[in-house]
Amino acid sequence: MIAASKAQVKPGKLFIGGEWVEGKKTFPTINPATGEALTQVAEADASQVDAAVRAARKAFDDRSKGSWSLMAASERGKVLWRIADLIEQNIDELAELETLDNGKPIFESRYIDMPMIVDVFRYYAGWATKIHGDTINSAASAFTYTLREPVGVVGAIVPWNFPLLLASWKLGPALACGNTVVLKPAEQTPLTALRFAELAVEAGLPAGALNVVTGGPETGAALVRHTDVDKIAFTGSTAVGKEIMRSAADTLKRVTLELGGKSPNIVFADAPIDQAVRGAINGIFYGKGEVCSAGSRLFVEKKIEDEFLTKLVESSKKMKPGDPLDPKTRLGAIVSEQQMNTVLGYIAGAKQEGAQLAAGGNRASVDGSKGFFIEPTIFSGVKNEMKIAQEEVFGPVLATLTFDDIEQVAELANKNIYGLAAAIWTSDIKRAHALSRRLKAGTVWINTYGDGDASLPFGGYKQSGFGRDLGADALQHYTETKAVWVKL
Ligand code: NAD
Repeated sequence: MIAASKAQVKPGKLFIGGEWVEGKKTFPTINPATGEALTQVAEADASQVDAAVRAARKAFDDRSKGSWSLMAASERGKVLWRIADLIEQNIDELAELETLDNGKPIFESRYIDMPMIVDVFRYYAGWATKIHGDTINSAASAFTYTLREPVGVVGAIVPWNFPLLLASWKLGPALACGNTVVLKPAEQTPLTALRFAELAVEAGLPAGALNVVTGGPETGAALVRHTDVDKIAFTGSTAVGKEIMRSAADTLKRVTLELGGKSPNIVFADAPIDQAVRGAINGIFYGKGEVCSAGSRLFVEKKIEDEFLTKLVESSKKMKPGDPLDPKTRLGAIVSEQQMNTVLGYIAGAKQEGAQLAAGGNRASVDGSKGFFIEPTIFSGVKNEMKIAQEEVFGPVLATLTFDDIEQVAELANKNIYGLAAAIWTSDIKRAHALSRRLKAGTVWINTYGDGDASLPFGGYKQSGFGRDLGADALQHYTETKAVWVKL
């Protein structure tokens, strides 16, 4: 039987201007491991999105001492640090809520997502006091300098695959720079954002500096349309990213888009093979493959194809789908029935296109539950023009291709609309650096897969979006630069 949870799951309200507000409508959030509703959550309509934006604006414009944007930067930093402390103190509960809502293994939520969220807030707590303009020697008769000012009200819209982690990637830099935020979590996974709001209040974040509006695409679209939102920070699908860019054009909002991917994972014959097999397995099955930077296109040098594939398939059989709350589970439940059916549709399509099924390929049953599980699936003999090699599946499905040399693999790897990440496995460091320059991707890993840190920028080339989350780069997107000219 799927284990019972200890985390308290409450009905979800909206968090607007420091108050908890009932939704006019509600929707259920489902536990993907059982298919059952966890609780009902408020759905914000356009008028409630408007109320949240007004609350954020009021907090941003507040001229009183201690308001968020006028507070000493060091005080803002302290609040962000306290947020990190409170996440750490409540880490088991937050991890469990995330796992219940998303279906990801508790191992991932407890030991990877939540600790990284703590790091992200501490990293940006440090930045709060280091955001500054320049003095510029433009003319002898003038004193000229620049100010870095917060952009204002930020609308942050995030997806369901790393619910609180991706929210932290927006909240950390936005708040450090003195902006106020309206956060819209994904409708599939709203629970940790709501618990986060309670912790942010406890940490001393003033009313209105953070607002949380739960709901689906309509709620997100109302936020993007709103005339008083200055910037949209979006993570999600490329299709929705395009809609957001069109809609944001009407008010010329600043937009940053972290979108989909189909990342090539390239293994040369001289690679440390066992390490590369582990990298390929983690690259696609970590997070059930619901990872924007998943290594979903595996390119193996032809000379080692048979050996590599045999080891890969053997290794994939150890990744059994299991109860997400079991600490030993490494492959959890697909986030929703709809997503499970999309993934199964891609598997059926790949077979029709002529790809060979080397492992998995079916819905899996875990302890007799009605949860949404899929076996770890590997296709071999894939051609680069097949749908399974071109489109983002967003599930535990790997497409394996082969190549002969660096020229060919550079061309094949770049022949895709996406450009989020890539990896290279080889013992030849010159080749690794040379190829990493040719790959059109925001991140290139060499002899590893998926590593990240709050200090390193993350984002896409091509249709994987633009702008960068994390690192110092993200701060650019949450500030405006003002030039000031003083005649002497
Ligand atoms: P999605 O685009 O369907 O939804 C993302 C968010 O946008 C949700 O909160 C949703 O309610 C909202 N939304 C949907 N339609 C909207 C609209 N018209 N206007 C405003 N908001 C709207 O994406 P998803 O299925 O939840 O997430 C999976 C996608 O996210 C994948 O494509 C994945 O690659 C991408 N992703 C990218 C990154 C990255 O950093 N590049 C990270 C994680 C996920």
